[in-house]
Order: sequence, then structure tokens, then C-alpha cells
Amino acid sequence: MREKKNIAILGSTGSIGTQALDVIRANADSFAVEVLTGHSNADLLIQQAIEFNPNTLVIADEEKYKYVKEALLPHDIKVFAGKKAIAEVVSMDSIDLVLTAIVGYAGLESTLAAIKAGKQIALANKETLVVAGELVTALAKEKAVNLYPVDSEHSAIFQCLAGEFHNPIEKIYLTASGGPFRGKDKTFLATVKKEQALKHPNWDMGAKITIDSASLMNKGLEVIEAKWLFGLKAEQIDVIVHPQSIVHSIVQFTDGSMKAQMGLPDMKLPIQYAMGYPNRMKSDFPRFSFFNYPQLTFEQADTKTFRNLALAFEAMNKGGNSPCVLNAANEIAVAAFLKDKIGFLEMSDVVENCLQTIAFIAKPSYDDYVATDNETRRIATTLVANGMKH
Ligand code: NAD
Ligand code: MG
Repeated sequence: MREKKNIAILGSTGSIGTQALDVIRANADSFAVEVLTGHSNADLLIQQAIEFNPNTLVIADEEKYKYVKEALLPHDIKVFAGKKAIAEVVSMDSIDLVLTAIVGYAGLESTLAAIKAGKQIALANKETLVVAGELVTALAKEKAVNLYPVDSEHSAIFQCLAGEFHNPIEKIYLTASGGPFRGKDKTFLATVKKEQALKHPNWDMGAKITIDSASLMNKGLEVIEAKWLFGLKAEQIDVIVHPQSIVHSIVQFTDGSMKAQMGLPDMKLPIQYAMGYPNRMKSDFPRFSFFNYPQLTFEQADTKTFRNLALAFEAMNKGGNSPCVLNAANEIAVAAFLKDKIGFLEMSDVVENCLQTIAFIAKPSYDDYVATDNETRRIATTLVANGMKH
């Protein structure tokens, strides 16, 4: 065992990545940064490299390579560029844990490469499990790799399961804040713009997951993520809206007992738990006060208005490549919404249409997932260009 855990952060310039670096900064005796990767924010990546002195850095955008390389010449840091390089560096012997914090399908290849190399995984990139959960979890099992959840709901379940791994789960409740449009109807949603959707009441996150939270697709993706992480059947997973985001999720055991994990909404806690597992590390994160939250409330999710959640359950039940279709169509729809090309409700139309039209594959191989992702993006892009009408 090394004195410090050597971490590779894939997507270090993002919301999860920068918060992971906050955790590492505060626990410099326990963690060291071995690898940093980012997409195109070269200046932030350079700044992070100078502060944390990783062995290796990768910038996905190859056009920025020269700029990054030159800025880091005085430092003893290896610099690479391109997406392939991310999938290659994760197998370095010196890495103990890989934090997968790339957003979207783009994170699949490097996560699979890290598991193949036998690296323990702190998994933030939920889309990886949505797209190819069966493949990813089977490979992790084969390689004796643990997938430590970073997503707050899944971290909550994982924390509730400590000491209970031999006890069967009856069901889990994933809590959802309901997002900025909780309680609104379709007439209202038809008019909302990205600026409104990007304002989440409780969490400060990257743009894609913030839109997914407003449309409840995030909860749909998390239902599928939970199925694979905890080996559950669809009927064992329920969603409950909890606007205060204090109860992060709940496990119900076969004797009827329910365990919940609570705390202020702060992603640094689940990030730190995943990186430090099995130890709880002392932190100075703000503490919860009952008097600031005199009421914790719970209500049913409105899946008639927020159809994405129903579509995600449908894709999960169908299985095969359906969740991969759901994810790819949603990535195109969210990107189009962020460019004002389609309306808020039309995001669900794009997803639904793709789920109906893309050929079903019951037992997809990796190549089938790649092909499904490609084809779905093509169809979804055409739908967006032709103007989805509902
Ligand atoms: P973000 O957009 O803030 O950051 C994404 C990171 O990935 C950035 O470093 C970016 O440079 C990199 N990246 C993006 N596209 C890439 C590509 N094609 N190739 C290589 N790198 C690329 O996203 P985020 O909010 O930090 O979310 C990251 C993941 O964590 C997502 O899967 C999200 O669902 C999950 N997650 C995030 C939060 C949160 O609070 N932000 C909570 C739970 C789960
Ligand atoms: Mg979450």
C-alpha cells in the first residue's frame, strides 16, 4: 500500500472534478493527484496541473495540445492530447483509483479501460451505467473492481448498506428535488428557456445534468444507474420527490426497516466518501441544522408532465440497447435545448421518438452500443433539425 492514494481524475475541469480537487487539497496527507484530464478548458487544466503536480495530464481537444504543453514546459508533467490518450493513461501502474467525472457517453470508453486495467473506480459518470450497465458491471466483477458511487443518491444507498451487504434489499427510494419546475404544468413548461432551466434550487452542477434535473431525466438515468450498481429489479426502485434535498435516498430492508442518509446538499461529501472508502474522513463541510429545515416533505413525482422519468423506466424495463438509445437521444436533445433549437417539452419528444424507431437489440455487445449510440444521435439530430412538434 502506498502512503497516499493516487487518484486519476477524468474530467477534472468540471463541477465534480473541481470539487474532487477541493477534497484532495483539504486531505493532502491522504490523496495525491496522478492524472488530470479535461476537454477544452486549457487554462484551468494548466492551473490545476501547476497546483497539484500530477504525473500525467491529457487534454481531449487536440488543438489545445501545443498551448498546454508549452505552458507546462518548466514542470515535470507528461502532457498528451486526444480522447484515445485518456483511455490509455488510466492503466498506469501508479494509479490506485480513477474518478470518472466526464459527462455523458464520452466517459464510457475510458471507464471501461480503467476497469480492464483493474483500477478501483469512483463513478460519477452515470451515463456509463445507463448505456452499458450490464457490460460494465460484468467486467467490474471479473476484474474484482469496486464501483464506488459518487452520485449523491447512490452514495446514500451505499452508506445505508454499510454492514448490511449480506441483507437483501426489499426496495430503495431515490429522492429527487423536483428541480426548478416542480409543480408546473405543460403550458408553463412549453415556454421555459434555458436560463430558467439552468437555475437549480439546491445543487450547483454542470449544464447537462442541470437540464436533466429540470426535466427529471436525471432521476430516470439514476434509476437505471441504481439497478446496475445494486443489482435490483425495476419494481424494487421507486422515486420520491423531496424538495429540500436533505434525505439523499432510502433503503428499505425485508423486515420493513428503512435507513436513510441525510445531510446538506454538497457533492463534496459523496466524492470524499467514494475516494476515502471505507474510512469517513473528517471534514469542515457546513453542518445541518434542524432549525433551518423545520419541515422535510415528500411527494409523488409527476410523470405525466415530466415524461422523461416514465420514458427512462420504460427503457429500463425493455432492457437491451433501449437505455443506450434513451441516453443518446437525450444528449442530443439537451444540447439542442441549450442552443435554443428545441423547446423544453420537445426534449421528451426526441427521446420517445428514438425509443420507438431505433432497432432493438436484446443482448448488445460493446460494438452494438457504439452503433446504437451513433445511429440514435443521427436520428435525433435529424429530428431536431426538422423541428420536433408535439
Ligand atoms: P461538467 O460538464 O461540469 O464537467 C464535465 C467534465 O468532462 C469536464 O472536465 C469536461 O472537460 C470533460 N469532458 C466533457 N466532454 C468530454 C469529452 N468528450 N471528452 C473528454 N472529456 C470531456 O459535468 P459535471 O456536472 O461535473 O458531471 C460529470 C458527471 O458526473 C456526469 O456524468 C454527471 O451526471 C455526474 N454527476 C454530477 C453531479 C454534479 O453535482 N455536478 C452530481 C452527480 C453526478
Ligand atoms: Mg444525483
